[in-house]
Amino acid sequence: MKQLNLIKLMIPIQFLLFLSGCSNPISEILPTEKSSFIENSRVIVEYKDTPHLSITGSSQTNIHVVIGNCEILKPNVKSCEQDHIVHSTQTIENNYLDFLWGFHETDVPASWQIHSGTDIVIAIIDSGVDINHPSLAASIWVNDDEIPGNGIDDDANGYIDDIHGWDFVNNRAIEPGTTQYDNTGHGTHIAGTIAGDIGVNPHAKIMVLKFMEGNSGYISDAIRALQYAVNNGATLSNHSYGTYDFSQRFKSVIDNSSQNNHLLIAAAGNHGIDIDQTPFYPAAFNLDNIISVAASNENHQLAFFSNYGDTSVDILAPGTAIYSTLPNNGYGLMSGTSMAAPLVTGILSLGISASSTAAITQLKESMMTRADSNGIINSHSFLSTLTELTSGAVGMCNSFTF
Ligand code: CA
Repeated sequence: MKQLNLIKLMIPIQFLLFLSGCSNPISEILPTEKSSFIENSRVIVEYKDTPHLSITGSSQTNIHVVIGNCEILKPNVKSCEQDHIVHSTQTIENNYLDFLWGFHETDVPASWQIHSGTDIVIAIIDSGVDINHPSLAASIWVNDDEIPGNGIDDDANGYIDDIHGWDFVNNRAIEPGTTQYDNTGHGTHIAGTIAGDIGVNPHAKIMVLKFMEGNSGYISDAIRALQYAVNNGATLSNHSYGTYDFSQRFKSVIDNSSQNNHLLIAAAGNHGIDIDQTPFYPAAFNLDNIISVAASNENHQLAFFSNYGDTSVDILAPGTAIYSTLPNNGYGLMSGTSMAAPLVTGILSLGISASSTAAITQLKESMMTRADSNGIINSHSFLSTLTELTSGAVGMCNSFTF
């Protein structure tokens, strides 16, 4: 058997580079100061002698008391009920939408009307991420069980001071204060498509797991990164890299991660070949918890560089001239199946946010059956299917009764 650490052909799949909630249930929202106006203690009062509603505020901390007093003390009152807070389902403010043709191609903005995402944790197993980028800084995962900078592995997960993730290349923590985590921009570009101010799921949290330096890394480090992701709470992981070398160990670790309902999104590669015939891993592993992504172009067709495969490729997503974040406060275009995969990752995270009870196989099937006629993922149709399947779970976001 090959030594894992000798297999070094993990290629980031970027092709070209042109630089440039849910509300809490009302009953659980408690005031912090009794003397302040409590928004959730507003009451709608309906009087018997007038059709007009009256709204009253209150400094009471208990809405049941407010309503009880209302009905007892005012005999001319017909009804009293809490003035519930409703939330817009369109909570996305994305000022870059004009540049994000892939979002429009896949109906991401329309799908935000169905669900705008939650703080689901997504691991980006790549070249690192510029955690200080203004579009991303608020979206970086924080390991709450670790105390930063104390030199102690507080949560006993095997990694010291791993506040935002781990750098498996240099064997160091991803922690505040360091900017040079991503020397190619590859991982930062991927992160920007998934989360942050211009991402598909602005509420998602990015777990930064660096295993590539420059354009390559070891399979053994990718394995360790995936194990970290699974063990530390990531639901999804994005894999915009690959190799034509088979690794049984890599396959086994991915297979085992399905026991934690972990889902991987993998880029199909950029060599324009059929990966059913010439497998490209991890995309071509025949495992239920891998979604393999090929790239489409502005003409709704397979991009000329993209690998393909009837069996090995599950879905297409836009992957040419994709606009996203770059290190050092930058933005720019990249092309490749590397850029198609994170779009799918972001959309899947919306789907999981909308339907936390859906099984991985159900998510995968819904995503594939609701692709458009060219096999390109459609976020709006995908989320619509999930909400039809699991309306009860989705209803949590709109249920303010108590
Ligand atoms: Ca730790």
